[in-house]
Amino acid sequence: RGRLRHALQRSRRSGLSVSLLFVDLDGFKLINDSHGHEAGDEMLKAVAARLIEQVRPGDTVGRLAGDEFVVLCDQVEQPLGMSVLAARINDVLRQPIVFKGVDLFVTGSIGVAIGNGSTHSADDLLRYADTAMYAVKESGRDGWQFFSESLQEQAQQRLAITNGLRLAIERNEFSVRFQPIVTAEPGRIAGAELLLRWKPASGEISPAVFIPIAEMTGAIVQIGLWVFREACRAEAEWRHRWGHEAPYVSVNVSARQLNDASLVEEFSAILQETGADPSRLLLEITETSLMADVETNLRILRRLADLGLRVAVDDFGTGYSSLAQLTRLPVNVLKIDRAFVDGIEKNEESRTIVRAVMGIGRSLGLKLVAEGVETGAQHRELCTYGCDLIQGYYFHRPLEEQLFCETFERERGEQAGESSAPLYFLIYVSRCNRPMKQDELIEMLNTIRQHNRLNGISGCLIHQDGEFMQLLEGKQQVVHALRDRIRADQRHEDFRVIAEGPLQQRVFNDWGMVLRHVGDSEGSKQPDFSAWQKRKIPFAELADDPRLCYAYITAHAVQG
Ligand code: C2E
Ligand code: MG
Ligand code: MG
Repeated sequence: RGRLRHALQRSRRSGLSVSLLFVDLDGFKLINDSHGHEAGDEMLKAVAARLIEQVRPGDTVGRLAGDEFVVLCDQVEQPLGMSVLAARINDVLRQPIVFKGVDLFVTGSIGVAIGNGSTHSADDLLRYADTAMYAVKESGRDGWQFFSESLQEQAQQRLAITNGLRLAIERNEFSVRFQPIVTAEPGRIAGAELLLRWKPASGEISPAVFIPIAEMTGAIVQIGLWVFREACRAEAEWRHRWGHEAPYVSVNVSARQLNDASLVEEFSAILQETGADPSRLLLEITETSLMADVETNLRILRRLADLGLRVAVDDFGTGYSSLAQLTRLPVNVLKIDRAFVDGIEKNEESRTIVRAVMGIGRSLGLKLVAEGVETGAQHRELCTYGCDLIQGYYFHRPLEEQLFCETFERERGEQAGESSAPLYFLIYVSRCNRPMKQDELIEMLNTIRQHNRLNGISGCLIHQDGEFMQLLEGKQQVVHALRDRIRADQRHEDFRVIAEGPLQQRVFNDWGMVLRHVGDSEGSKQPDFSAWQKRKIPFAELADDPRLCYAYITAHAVQG
């Protein structure tokens, strides 16, 4: 630091810059742990020697602490030239270091800061270089990066989050959501994943942002206990209320928590205290973190499994697990990552991966959950592959506990009433009060679908040339309530019922919307009828023939 200060003073006189490279070794701890301290020391010496080889005479190489080095370059005329030096250092670090006949490998993460004596203090430069180094670590290590303003902002935000998290529990800023997990068929709630929400005074922050920071700083240990207690409380309360039909509770556990020596005792105490049934709790651990240190995780997971807790591999497919390791771990459930589910309709590779993963899971006797299911097509495809459980916006978003419980109640009620209450149908036509755009219609579709699914309504809404025709199936009372709502809705004009009455059996097993534009066959898969088209028959006129309307609308059931 003394040298750094002197260099900065000199730069104030000369007007030239000073540049500081912060070099942190990646995976050094692993070398120390697996090959012994002697190997570690040898490695640090070799690294120091390599660094010295790379710099000009007059530059300084120093060791800050542990596996952290700094390279100080004085009188830098071309600051951007530092990128060449940094890349060269990355290269030489990648060369193996031979220790007792064994090749040892490390890489380095390098942060580069440039400044001069009139604008920067020694502490500034060190902090900047450290911030840039940290960014390299986050983006996958073995590389270099210049410090920049936006990195500075990120670092400040991270610091604010780190400080905020310390007080979040005390200040009551955490809350939980429960996202229903449904059976693949017929889509009934079987469990719920507890998802943490954090709302400090400055505004809500996503778990995707604060959880990694909490893991890095260790705050996740305290937070994780709070979360586990919430999960246990919910499990006990729900079981009290609904008995063994109650949904199970899935809860995320970070691998960082598994390193905490007292975790098993703490979890065990919380189970006792809340009276939760461990076999109805599922601990979700991401594949990447689970496989990063199998040996340690295996020990702890076995002890957790001994408590009766069940374990799921979360975000499965994104990491690298070997089958041998999967069979050694006490795992009960695989959760297939959203990325593959998302790709099902788009590419063959995702489909292949999903099918292969399901095959593996099934042969290991594991339950399969698909995450992030957003469309009916994805749902159908997963059903044909034999997926057990589904989680995703297509069925439910994460809900506040109260709403989750109401949703579950209603579903139970329907299930009980389903067989007794007779079915009813209704077909109507109406006109749009104004032209509606595609995305507007799709937005409408999503809200109505949610509502209809909760109310046990199936059917089909056709939008064609500014007109609507809809078939509704469900219990009479519900169908009539919906009819009244639609009639009162400003968007519908000239509402007219075509036919209604009792129904033997549903034609549709869900509710959906079909958008048709008769006339412009361009781009559609339909044949071109334009030469034959005498006139367009509007729905309003078609409505005189209910049989024809019924045939027309139910023809869409085949396509879903
Ligand atoms: P995860 O465990 O894989 O949780 C699923 C995430 O996907 C949730 O995001 C959920 O809201 C979202 N999701 C569910 N269905 C869909 C869908 O159909 N489409 C899309 N686009 N997203 C869907 P969320 O709540 O933002 O959580 C993000 C991640 O943060 C979680 O991923 C989990 O890794 C972590 N996390 C959340 N709560 C906790 C917690 O209490 N402890 C720990 N350690 N991690 C948590
Ligand atoms: Mg999860
Ligand atoms: Mg997941």
